[in-house]
Amino acid sequence: MARKARLFVVSGPAGVGKGTLVSRVRAMRPSLGLTVSATTRSPRPGEKDGVAYHFISDEEFDRLVERGEFLEWAQVHDHRYGTLRSEVDACLARGESVVLEIDVQGGENVRRAFPEVVRIFVEPPSWEVLVARLKGRGTESEESLALRLQTAQRELKLAHTYDVRLVNDDLDEATKELARILEKYETI
Ligand code: ADP
Ligand code: 5GP
Repeated sequence: MARKARLFVVSGPAGVGKGTLVSRVRAMRPSLGLTVSATTRSPRPGEKDGVAYHFISDEEFDRLVERGEFLEWAQVHDHRYGTLRSEVDACLARGESVVLEIDVQGGENVRRAFPEVVRIFVEPPSWEVLVARLKGRGTESEESLALRLQTAQRELKLAHTYDVRLVNDDLDEATKELARILEKYETI
């Protein structure tokens, strides 16, 4: 069956496993379009500019906002993050579907700018599992962990506003489920 290139948003609280799931689906489907977001935060060890993100200054971010270069952008915790329209348009023009792994506010903004978007919300099997994953990742300070968990409580209440909800319990199952969801919407 012919596939249609579609724009997908994968959102959900920090630590739920969005990055893990999307990178596993990408490994199964290397042709899936990849966009690199811009951010004002500093790179973590091992993160390369232009690969993990385009790491830019506050002034540069302001300029891109003014020029309307972002499909969406949001302030997430202490920094701004945005999806460049040029990157999404280039993938769709090549016939590649795009998966944006962005925060919940960004997901809402994409819906306004791009109503055909399919939005997928990744949920943890329980609150305790979410806390354990976020702690287990070992990337957050006590303060940043508390902030992310506070935000997560708000975000989980918005799950019902999404097109699809996906519980990330068993990783293999959830990966297959995400791949199936993409395929389903590409062939509608
Ligand atoms: P996010 O991108 O949503 O912030 P990550 O992909 O970084 O989350 O995942 C957070 C942590 O949880 C990582 O250490 C990851 O290895 C782990 N993880 C992700 N999915 C699962 C799963 N289904 N079962 C167990 N651990 C998981
Ligand atoms: P991190 O700093 O851990 O890489 O990302 C923090 C949060 O920013 C995550 O929830 C991530 O999904 C979100 N994020 C990453 N890129 C973008 C983007 O382009 N737009 C929006 N709105 N959020 C993003």
